Amino acid sequence: MKKSLALLGSTGSVGRQTLEVVEANKNQFEIYALAAHNDIKILKEQIIKFKPEVAVVTDEEAAQNLARDLDGFKHTKILSGEKNLNEIAAAPKVDIAFIAVSGIVGLLPTLAAIQAGKVVALANKETLVVAGHIVMEQAKKSNAPIIPVDSEHSAIFQCIQGTTDKKHIKKIILTASGGPFRNYSVKDLSGVTPDMALSHPNWSMGKKITVDSATMMNKGLEIIEAKWLFDIPYNQIDVVIHPQSIIHSMVEFIDNTVVSLMSIPDMKIPIQYALTWPERRPISNSMEINFAELKALTFEAPDEKLFPCLRLARRAGEEGGLKPVVLNAANEMAVDLFLKKKIGFLHIPYLVEAMLDSFDNSANPKLEKILETDAVTRQKTLQLAEKLSL
Ligand code: MG
Repeated sequence: MKKSLALLGSTGSVGRQTLEVVEANKNQFEIYALAAHNDIKILKEQIIKFKPEVAVVTDEEAAQNLARDLDGFKHTKILSGEKNLNEIAAAPKVDIAFIAVSGIVGLLPTLAAIQAGKVVALANKETLVVAGHIVMEQAKKSNAPIIPVDSEHSAIFQCIQGTTDKKHIKKIILTASGGPFRNYSVKDLSGVTPDMALSHPNWSMGKKITVDSATMMNKGLEIIEAKWLFDIPYNQIDVVIHPQSIIHSMVEFIDNTVVSLMSIPDMKIPIQYALTWPERRPISNSMEINFAELKALTFEAPDEKLFPCLRLARRAGEEGGLKPVVLNAANEMAVDLFLKKKIGFLHIPYLVEAMLDSFDNSANPKLEKILETDAVTRQKTLQLAEKLSL
């Protein structure tokens, strides 16, 4: 029997690579539903190729345009609105809900899929950052496996397969490429433009996550993501810079042995593993590591003075409650403003820190409170940013 997928965020970088993996394993997987925000040009091509039963376009106008465009194409029902993301993620025909949307919009469909007991392939880290306590508790209750797609977390997940007792794990070590500005000074960073931030040395990814990699907020969010996925306290999660991006993360055990996972940096590898877990399959269009050519793997400590987002994310995670929500919302807003050239690169950590300082916290927030705090933080970030405008 083929496994049926609902793929949310199909036009983004991870979404498109997921369809490449599905295409290469046509006898194993089929697409039940695709969803995108408004990129109907790419979505239309995907619909014609994969013939899903349903396609959701969250932007209403784009949905109407696509429905008009595909008039006469009978295979696929076009729906609009965010609510339908929850419907397709939890639909009875779905085996795997693949959550590849970017940002907090991934939260409700992830919860819907978990409640329906689906296998959840999770490429959206914001969901765990803002609501890790709710998501993991629900996953436990529904017995829904969450398979991480983020390359670091996929690596850790694979490194601990076969670990019989969590107490055997001493430390998780997340690797980070360090991004394009690893060797900059703070003064150099003040002149960074969106174009500079968008050219990552090793990975090809969406815009938001590429900027997050440049500020190292991405690694900060990954610390919080790892805490929830693997139920490991923050003081047992380390970050090390590894510019070659060959080791995707490591786990140190209590006997000081370290297990690492290596591959060339290619998202298709963790994507395929999330789909085939607990099995493995040969992978097409991806390369092996050539160790002789590689020669050296290097490591260094991250510079938190240069990349304050790393420190801010750890602080938000440790303070817990609503702080990670504030961190995430302020960051999403700041990155968006930076990409629109409304603020400078160093304003991103400035805004995030200002928001973290200005919020009263509350422990174990409910979903409504999380969504409300997200909205309020965005508004406040915007207000403060207007005062900074270039
Ligand atoms: Mg990652």
